[in-house]
Amino acid sequence: MWATELSDVLFGTPQPIRVKSNLGVLKEDEVNIIVHGHEPVLSEMIVQAANDPELLALAGKVGAKRINISGICCTGNEILMRHGVPAAGNFLQQEPAIITSAVEAMVVDVQCLMPALTELAKCYHTQIITTSPKARIPGARHVAFSESAALASAKNIVKIAIENYPNRNRAKVFIPREETDFMAGFSVEAIVGALGGSLSPLLDAVKAGSIRGIAGVVGCNNPKTKQDFSHITLTEELIKRDILVVQTGCAAIACAKAGLLVPEAAGKAGSGLRAVCESLGIPPVLHMGSCVDISRILVTAAAAANALGVDISDLPLAGAAPEWMSEKAVSIGAYVVASGIFTVLGTIPPVLGSGNVAALLTSGAAGVVGAAFAVEPDPQAAARLIDEHLAAKRKALGLS
Ligand code: SF4
Repeated sequence: MWATELSDVLFGTPQPIRVKSNLGVLKEDEVNIIVHGHEPVLSEMIVQAANDPELLALAGKVGAKRINISGICCTGNEILMRHGVPAAGNFLQQEPAIITSAVEAMVVDVQCLMPALTELAKCYHTQIITTSPKARIPGARHVAFSESAALASAKNIVKIAIENYPNRNRAKVFIPREETDFMAGFSVEAIVGALGGSLSPLLDAVKAGSIRGIAGVVGCNNPKTKQDFSHITLTEELIKRDILVVQTGCAAIACAKAGLLVPEAAGKAGSGLRAVCESLGIPPVLHMGSCVDISRILVTAAAAANALGVDISDLPLAGAAPEWMSEKAVSIGAYVVASGIFTVLGTIPPVLGSGNVAALLTSGAAGVVGAAFAVEPDPQAAARLIDEHLAAKRKALGLS
């Protein structure tokens, strides 16, 4: 929560913005730089450096039309929300991005970086550039990123990418044409703004049953499941049932690629949710940020609970991480459950060695924090679980 608040102080609070997603955002005649990882400080500076007149002139000298920045994982989410920088993909697209043979540099900071990227990059001209002392990878080029000389470090990195452009093997270049528009930037402030200054219209829609509840579908890709399948299936099932979906992290990029993060996707929602989305001009699935921005969802939930004079655990809310993978997803999931929100995981956490721990997480926690985890790999069944949970919460609040 603190990290999100401070990022907003430093770089600005996100506002709704139209962005493009998927590997089609890479450009054949431009220097392609992908930023990947989690730290907004680095990516903010790379975006600034890419507009530097001297570096643009240098790109022109090597025959490139422009410097094209795109993102992968949550570094990507940070800059797409604030600057409209396109998302080349989510976690499982870091290798395919290199295989396009059109990426001059993949600039990484920390976390969710596949250690084998450097081995793969040897088959292409892509430079893997590590920047954090905490995450150096054998075989990568290391350019230490220092906050005190942030822009100079970023310019140095962009220059390396530009100088690598002539090394691209054009015979190998293959950029898939897939490219999908989506809307992002739904910070709490932006949602309140879209509702006319308070959460009341949203709460009224929940009370009236036009929106039956709200589900956060979040988290990673997991190589144990078909990429994006569970995110997309679960999200489509939920909006059909008039459940507003809010998203962060790689889940949001998955649904962006599937075309669910545009106002036009309201046509796939149930009649109640569709009417609300059409009247506000918003998508039925709201992109609220990177995976560490889960606190934006919880701040909204707390404001709703305070407005109604109940606990968060009393609200018709649910969470889901259908393809979770990273250790950080574990702490994020624990934060959500500890805040009182029932959460469905799509893969089993490594806890089955202890019957006591498994029982605490899936049932005992409910008596302590008002919520527990469930595990359901089938996204259709997960949607039914969430539906039943929301119906029970509505009934307990006296809502139809
Ligand atoms: S959602 Fe998961 S895979 Fe994606 S950036 Fe966050 S931690 Fe990494």
